[in-house]
Amino acid sequence: MKTFSNPLELKRELKKHIGKIGFVPTMGALHKGHLSLIEASKKENDFTVVSIFVNPTQFNDPNDYNNYPNTHSEDLFHLSALKVDYLFTPTKDSIYNDNYSYQLIENNFSKKLCGAAREGHFEGVLTIVMKLLNIVNPTKAYFGEKDYQQYQLIKGMVESFHMDVEIVPMPTKREKDGLAMSSRNLLLTESERNIAPKFAELIKTDLDDEKLKDELENSGFKIDYIETIENRRFGAVHLGNVRLIDNVEK
Ligand code: AMP
Repeated sequence: MKTFSNPLELKRELKKHIGKIGFVPTMGALHKGHLSLIEASKKENDFTVVSIFVNPTQFNDPNDYNNYPNTHSEDLFHLSALKVDYLFTPTKDSIYNDNYSYQLIENNFSKKLCGAAREGHFEGVLTIVMKLLNIVNPTKAYFGEKDYQQYQLIKGMVESFHMDVEIVPMPTKREKDGLAMSSRNLLLTESERNIAPKFAELIKTDLDDEKLKDELENSGFKIDYIETIENRRFGAVHLGNVRLIDNVEK
């Protein structure tokens, strides 16, 4: 596996190759959800590029950014075991060479759900993903349905800007007890970790959204939002200092 931190150097290197490039952008602290995206990319492409970058512009809460889990040596072990071809670890200054002066804004769906709860979040997400896609220029890029709103907004961005990349959605990987895998799960205390699967269990029941909120509150969660849009129920809750999100088809 070759590692690059400089966007121009990675771009130059990837231009040497003929063949399909698969791309998996991540913020590190890799778990089996991330690895399932990488495995799909390995199967469907000639080269796979993974990026690890904890993107400051998508965090509205400095504590969340400062405490974001980092398991870099384990990440490197997983990426090598999966025979990833390229790892891209940009620095903040190299990728935000404009100091975040240019931003990508979506004005409808990005203002709902996680966008309403986290001001500026999706501007940060869309801007970094646009930058990464322009650097890697992949044939296919892989995104998890765990972050379903993010997947929909990125798919919409690619269609809007007539970009030559296929956005591939991947199913949510869950722990045995149903909890959606997430890097932030590492931050749960033991007692919070024991309560957390209730979120996954309750969100998929037939309770209406208001009753679901009551049940979640009774189980110890603080509600950020619970909303059903078309045939999907989206939810975000807090357990102590940790924010968990999930969504299920209804
Ligand atoms: P993150 O590192 O959290 O930014 O996630 C990087 C990518 O992995 C995103 O496309 C996520 O949607 C995806 N991802 C995160 N958790 C899961 C999961 N449990 N199952 C499938 N994909 C996931």
